[in-house]
Amino acid sequence: MFTDLQLHERLLKALTELSFDTPTPVQEQTIPPAIEGKDLYVIAQTGSGKTAAYVLPILHRLLEDETRSTGPRALILSPTRELARQILQDVQNLARFTFLKAELIIGGEDFKVQAAKMRKNPDVLIATPGRTLEHLAAGVNIDLTQIRTLVIDEADRMLDMGFSEDVLKIAEACPGERQTMLFSATTGNAGLRRVIEQVLREPLRLEL
Ligand code: AMP
Repeated sequence: MFTDLQLHERLLKALTELSFDTPTPVQEQTIPPAIEGKDLYVIAQTGSGKTAAYVLPILHRLLEDETRSTGPRALILSPTRELARQILQDVQNLARFTFLKAELIIGGEDFKVQAAKMRKNPDVLIATPGRTLEHLAAGVNIDLTQIRTLVIDEADRMLDMGFSEDVLKIAEACPGERQTMLFSATTGNAGLRRVIEQVLREPLRLEL
């Protein structure tokens, strides 16, 4: 039961409305350590419920966090625009009974429109690496200095698409004191191991 996972009541309410009655295995194993703030390296397939497995702890921690922020506190990196849109949908569904806001920063959208989105002070950013770096290079649009949780979703696909350096640069722009969760469908290759070594701190490895 989701109630066993100690999630915030506003999230439990959303889960009930979405008819998510029982956590999937990846959710059952990921949510408790993620709520504690641990770094995670999770090997899980699409369709396993992995999105909610990292979105629920992110939202829970944001709801428990009383400190005021002027920039996003969670960043979710996606290899593709389509996946990023899907993640936004999931975040909005799960956050429907909260005041938390999410925005999308992806390629193919007007740069100025995205700068305006950032000024709305979203709590969660869902982004593709290329466009995130473009905003970082512009120096004014995007502030990653208050990121508490970084998620790298479909990491193996991200690296196959050549985003390895971009991901490392984005992680470097986030505070060192942060939680990082990396999800991959495969155990990957040396490139993935290098990224894991550089961005995760003593991660808990879960293979589902
Ligand atoms: P994902 O692996 O994150 O792409 O999720 C696959 C599908 O399962 C999505 O359509 C989710 O909305 C759905 N889903 C995720 N978790 C649950 C759950 N605990 N109960 C029922 N459906 C779920």
